[in-house]
Amino acid sequence: MSTDTFANPWQAREDIAITSVRAITTAPEGIALVVVRVDTNVPGLYGLGCATFTQRWKAVETFVNEHLARLLIGRYPGDIGDLTRLAAFTGYWRGGPVTNNAISGIDQALWDIAGKRAGMPVHELLGGKVRAAADTYLHASGRDAGEAIEHALALVEAGQRHVRLQVTTPGGGGYGAPSAPTEYPDAPYHNGWSARDYLRRTPALFEAARDKLPDNVELLHDVHSRLTPKEAVTLARSLEPYRLFFLEDVLAPEHWDRLPEVREASPVPIAVGELTTSLTDAVRLVKNGGVDFIRSHVSDIGGLTPARKIADLAELCGVRTAWHGPGDTSPIGAAANVALDVTSAAFGIQEGHVYSEPVHEVFPGTLRIQNGWLFPNETPGWGIDIDEAAAARYPAELSGHDAWAAGVRRPDGALEAP
Ligand code: MG
Repeated sequence: MSTDTFANPWQAREDIAITSVRAITTAPEGIALVVVRVDTNVPGLYGLGCATFTQRWKAVETFVNEHLARLLIGRYPGDIGDLTRLAAFTGYWRGGPVTNNAISGIDQALWDIAGKRAGMPVHELLGGKVRAAADTYLHASGRDAGEAIEHALALVEAGQRHVRLQVTTPGGGGYGAPSAPTEYPDAPYHNGWSARDYLRRTPALFEAARDKLPDNVELLHDVHSRLTPKEAVTLARSLEPYRLFFLEDVLAPEHWDRLPEVREASPVPIAVGELTTSLTDAVRLVKNGGVDFIRSHVSDIGGLTPARKIADLAELCGVRTAWHGPGDTSPIGAAANVALDVTSAAFGIQEGHVYSEPVHEVFPGTLRIQNGWLFPNETPGWGIDIDEAAAARYPAELSGHDAWAAGVRRPDGALEAP
């Protein structure tokens, strides 16, 4: 790795400098997680940031190690704004998930260092709490409505107040529930997924759920970007009697300019944004009247620094936040979500993930959901470390997501948004 030092633009307040920047990839749950570690010349002072783009992790790893480390080594770690802008501007072309995840890794690692230097958790650096904890939702699914509702009931009994409900729809490429292949034996592609069948079956799931689940359980549903604007309105209207907390990702990013008309016609709140890959995309969603909840994947828009701007904009626009946070976010990224949640008046809900024990082994300090709530660590920085020897026991492989996405097709064989 090059150790070139680029010019310092001003005199640092203290004689602290970045000495190393490197990406660490590990897959304790079989999903590649990428974390950036930034070291300094102060013994024991380092930071960790989430750079997880699990589908293209090698590109992020190379970008951090080969392109960005040489820009940062020698620089003062307190200049977070300048260093993250430097990482973006030196590429000339900006945005996109590879660039933004790499920058997020650096951004969040620098916030971790700032917290450790101040002796404060990151949420205090952001202005302090406006709430004690973040309420979360978890995913329940099943091969039929009965199985999905049984799963949801188990989560409710464990303390969840919000549950995302998905049921198997025909085809191996159904989203969020077990697949049901070969439901179209006469079609060119037997494992196809049909929007029309999906629109017919989904309301029945929620009718059964409202019948069987306690009335105060909040229900959510994720379309995963597969409908046209008219189909989205049809689904939203068919779900009106079941009082959804939100309906997620009704349209693909290519059609987000049609969201305002969908939201206008929808009787249920619309949540969109996990596929935003720039701060600009996220700003447009908040400002154009197309969303009730903005739910960007924080590392995909460049990290905590840009996400704070979205949270502030959402507060001023009457939009709520629901940051993306399933298993393809590292525990550092999950902690960054919670730091935003507890410091923002715009908070709506937090997508949760119950990390398995190998993740806790690799990342000591990983947050645990308690009765549906996520509390931030009160230790300096993120309060989360990485055990690199443990991380090495769970090597990452090229993502199985490619194989899944390649199978998401209509019965006629045409590729569908995964
Ligand atoms: Mg989603």
